Amino acid sequence: MTERKRINPVAELNNQLERGTLFAHTALGENALRLNQLQAVVHGLADLLIAKGVIDSTELGHAMQRVDEELRQRGEQLGPGTLIRVETIEDQPPTAMVDCESRLPICKAVCCRLNFALSVAEIEEGHARWDLGQPYHIRKQPDGCCVHQTGKGCAIYDHRPGVCRRYSCAKDPRIWIDFEGRVLNHEWIAANLGKASRPHATAVLMHRIDPQGEPS
Ligand code: SF4
Ligand code: SF4
Repeated sequence: MTERKRINPVAELNNQLERGTLFAHTALGENALRLNQLQAVVHGLADLLIAKGVIDSTELGHAMQRVDEELRQRGEQLGPGTLIRVETIEDQPPTAMVDCESRLPICKAVCCRLNFALSVAEIEEGHARWDLGQPYHIRKQPDGCCVHQTGKGCAIYDHRPGVCRRYSCAKDPRIWIDFEGRVLNHEWIAANLGKASRPHATAVLMHRIDPQGEPS
């Protein structure tokens, strides 16, 4: 595998600031849009029902508390859209270890293009960098490869995330069509691991531009 070009730290910082800002605006914008729609529906409904004598405001208050508690228990309350990996029983060491060295000329460490979220411990340890535009996923270079992949190996090998320690591509049909025959799944790789995803710019919907070009 050829050595990767060193990342320009200023360009990377600029890229991350842009992604982080887009992410924050998008998360805020999406939540605000949904809240505005819900607010209009709920207030209109409550006003109508109270006016018609179907409910009273005290009963409504109790019902609101009950629903709030149910949503909290089901984990369906609106949040900032961040993702943290929680260790589970499935996070066990791989059953099939892989001879990466002999496969690297073919696979070119394509597993380091997969996307995954870090755990709380990994975020707090600070060895693995996370993507400001998709918190708390591993940070990628513009071509979709992990920022810690130098082309000669993992720059944080001794402190690499648990996902990387446990991952085995041996039974991953996304990577190999034929593991023993060393045939990569080029179609899936090209379709899914081509380059880093960009945050959606939903936030721009929050400002309507009138024909004169002024925000309203
Ligand atoms: S785990 Fe598989 S895809 Fe990743 S470097 Fe090793 S052989 Fe290549
Ligand atoms: S942290 Fe290391 S092993 Fe894990 S994806 Fe990045 S380069 Fe690969």
